[in-house]
Amino acid sequence: MKQDKHKFEIPKEIANVSQVLSRAGFENFLVGGCVRDLIIGRTPKDWDIATIALPEDIIKLFPKTFYENDYGTVGVVDENVEDVTLRTVEVTPYRLESGYSDFRRPDSVEWGKTIQDDLARRDFTVNALAYSIENEELLDLFEGQKDIEKKLIRTVGNPDERFGEDALRMLRALRLASELNFAIELETQNAIEKNSKLLEHISSERIRDEFSKIILSDEPALALDLTARLGLLKYISPEFEKGIGVEQNQAHAYTVWEHLLRSLNHSAKKNFPFHVRLAAFIHDVAKPHTRVWKNNQWTFYGHEVVGAKLARIILENLRFPKETIDKTVKLVRWHMFFSDTEQISLSAVRRIIRNVGVDLIWDLVNLRTSDRIGTGRPKEVPYRLRKYKSMIEEALRDPISVKQLALNGASIMKLTNTGPGPHIGFILEILLSEVLEKPELNTKEYLEKRVLELHALEIKELAVLGKEARIKNEGEEEKEVGKIREEYKVD
Ligand code: ATP
Ligand code: MG
Repeated sequence: MKQDKHKFEIPKEIANVSQVLSRAGFENFLVGGCVRDLIIGRTPKDWDIATIALPEDIIKLFPKTFYENDYGTVGVVDENVEDVTLRTVEVTPYRLESGYSDFRRPDSVEWGKTIQDDLARRDFTVNALAYSIENEELLDLFEGQKDIEKKLIRTVGNPDERFGEDALRMLRALRLASELNFAIELETQNAIEKNSKLLEHISSERIRDEFSKIILSDEPALALDLTARLGLLKYISPEFEKGIGVEQNQAHAYTVWEHLLRSLNHSAKKNFPFHVRLAAFIHDVAKPHTRVWKNNQWTFYGHEVVGAKLARIILENLRFPKETIDKTVKLVRWHMFFSDTEQISLSAVRRIIRNVGVDLIWDLVNLRTSDRIGTGRPKEVPYRLRKYKSMIEEALRDPISVKQLALNGASIMKLTNTGPGPHIGFILEILLSEVLEKPELNTKEYLEKRVLELHALEIKELAVLGKEARIKNEGEEEKEVGKIREEYKVD
């Protein structure tokens, strides 16, 4: 057995857990990603300990634990620890795995007798290292250190068999390669290509988690392009594959797929938050559906509207949380806003802020920057971007929603001596449309005068004006949007 003396700096919170186990006579090792990260010199995201102790032994040794029954993992928690990455240590009994029949999980979990058993069932050599804190010894049975040095992801044992046991490992290989900036060893890569279709047995949630980690890595484009070349991409979503090889017009140097990858890479480089990266990767997903050859060039009319619908479907299928979906879809829906540079007026900026929301408006600018860089064109002329930013700053000082009007629903009811009803909504929407156009009209005197004028109208007439105002406030030609929705059956 290859066992080297090694000294790593281990946080005392982690060393304590190991020591409690050792003192009770239970052999234990740090295992998995944390050992790999210690060798590379990255800060581990989480700490895992494998031990000869069984769950009931572990639970008895620590005051606060939680038990995840599936794999025997016991979470050992110390709430006094400030650093969240050190607060919980996952302690798992040595495991053996046997009898995979559905390509995704062992039919049963059996306890292993030795650390060797436990390391042999791990996915990649770089993840199959163990470190004994007590003895300051590194256990490397599968040449994990050598692969770390060569920056290679390689399965432990026969890749065909290992991917057959759990197909998610294929996507994990790409995710790890992306996070660590490693390559995938050739035989492992060939086996991924050969077994790619097994990924259809894997749950959307597990796929989503690996996909998300790829998106959050420093250079996601490489890994995602490899998912396409190795045949895994369609299991993230078949919609993504449709952009491959789809040519655009002169404004774009790249195909739709290349453009999305480049936009995403830029937003990763800028360290933009997750939903902006996701929007960068998905914003043109409907271009293949809306592409029409017209006047000697390709047009993609309405792709942001269809794209928003499609993005929602894709992200819901991947079981993303509602909040992430809502934000991403909004960004996709409005990503064209800052493209039509000359036409942007202050009132249009107020409307876009109303539509995407104050909390997303800067993200929309960041998406636009990523989009622009992704076309392969030079960076935005700085003054233009500065101009947008100053317009946003200015517009943010003005009222942009009904809530900010100098008068509210209750005061309208009082003024008109009426109760609640649709007329209140219509009046508010009309007042807002006037104020969006001219913020200086947002005074009590003016609005009260308008309320009385509007109240004098027939309800039918008021309804028409109210609905028109709403459409205008939303800043789009609803009729045309309706047409597009119908044509692509995405409503
Ligand atoms: P991260 O830095 O994201 O935590 P990690 O390598 O620690 O990366 P985890 O998902 O935390 O990844 O898994 C911990 C360890 O468990 C891995 O290093 C690996 O040894 C093992 N492991 C996880 N998933 C699998 C799997 N599907 N098949 C085999 N071993 C796995
Ligand atoms: Mg981990």
